[in-house]
Amino acid sequence: MILGTYKNFEEYLKAVRELSQTLLISSENRLSLEDGIPEDLVNALRDIGLFGISIPAEYGGLGLSMEEQVRLTFEFCQASCVYRSRFSTTIGLTSQAILDFASEGQKEKYLPNMAKGLCTGAFALTEVESGSDAGSLKTSAKRHGNDGWIISGEKRYITNAPQADVFLVMARTDPTSTGSDGISAFLVDAGTVGIKIGDPPRMLGNEGSHACYVWFENCEVPADSLVGGQEGRGLKAALRGINHARLHVAATCVGQAIRLIAEMTEYASQREQFGKPIGEFGQIAAMLADSQAEMAAGRSLCLDCARQFDAGDNIPFIDIASAKLFCSEMVSRVADRAVQVMGGLGYMEDLSNVPRLFRDVRLFRIFEGASQVQQGNIARSMMRGY
Ligand SMILES: Cc1cc2nc3c(=O)[nH]c(=O)nc-3n(C[C@H](O)[C@H](O)[C@H](O)COP(=O)(O)OP(=O)(O)OC[C@H]3O[C@@H](n4cnc5c(N)ncnc54)[C@H](O)[C@@H]3O)c2cc1C
Repeated sequence: MILGTYKNFEEYLKAVRELSQTLLISSENRLSLEDGIPEDLVNALRDIGLFGISIPAEYGGLGLSMEEQVRLTFEFCQASCVYRSRFSTTIGLTSQAILDFASEGQKEKYLPNMAKGLCTGAFALTEVESGSDAGSLKTSAKRHGNDGWIISGEKRYITNAPQADVFLVMARTDPTSTGSDGISAFLVDAGTVGIKIGDPPRMLGNEGSHACYVWFENCEVPADSLVGGQEGRGLKAALRGINHARLHVAATCVGQAIRLIAEMTEYASQREQFGKPIGEFGQIAAMLADSQAEMAAGRSLCLDCARQFDAGDNIPFIDIASAKLFCSEMVSRVADRAVQVMGGLGYMEDLSNVPRLFRDVRLFRIFEGASQVQQGNIARSMMRGY
């Protein structure tokens, strides 16, 4: 357990809950005002070990089981999901690919600093012409004598690009290929000559999180930046991280739904119209109850996936796709009801948290595999046996 500070996971969870419910929730307005997560708050995330939750203890992380990570996410993500975005690309998309596919030297180089929050990983897969169809990406990596590689290409929507110390870059090493077989993964230090990062575009929500264009202009990287020293495993490595990240996103949706339910329930209990609390009107009660029931279903789905994840090597791909699909759609429905329950206050950005939460959660149906992509994966898997 983290530096021996906490006796067991339950104590650690309690400390994370307290951090989220006090400092983080009360500081949410700073995220948009300062267009980023102020460093004192990032330090609070570092100090409590959040950058290391998924990294094994031998590399300095907390080595939490997936069930523990998911339970922690339910609690932590009752505060703005922008906080989570600051360490999500490190704990999921990058560190998990390194753990499963990198050489021991690469693990030693990156994981201990990632666990301490001193090395932020960013995951560079998406391009202008390859979004959901990630296997069609065009960024290239060409051999440069025996000494290394030259990476050229344009990536976009890369979360934490301005904060990154290292990019996990997916690039095509086999120019004759058109699909995923010819794609390899590279660990590219952010200071490498030829990397340019665009200004963060303004987004519908998640103010304070940055998802940018990144250009690799004839970037020379050493031979040992190829993950695990093997070509052609780029999308496999990406998928490993993405499975982890998808389950974390599903758990994030549950945390955000718990918060939205608390906001709307408090209002429905206190706001009186026609001489009684509005929560006593059947239509309002139905919106509260449906939200609670759907959140509880999402929570159970996440825990079930996490337990399967912990039980063996076979990551439950289809169950994780179902959890990502269900929970991201669920939290959007809950957010919409929260706006409705709160009436005009649900629409007033400066007077209530709900409009911001409503805008933030819309993202979850798009990234880490959009809902339609999850539906396609699930249906294809269902039909395979017939
Ligand atoms: C805030 C934010 C942060 C992000 N962070 C990262 C990051 O850190 N690293 C990274 O690499 N990427 C990141 N992404 C990219 C994200 O993963 C992609 O946006 C996502 O995969 C969708 O790709 P696209 O935007 O190109 O949409 P498209 O693929 O063009 O999809 C558009 C629409 O078509 C639908 N569609 C596509 N294919 C099918 C199909 N086969 N069947 C049915 N419908 C389909 C989609 O569901 C969607 O509704 C981020 C995106 C956002 C918005």
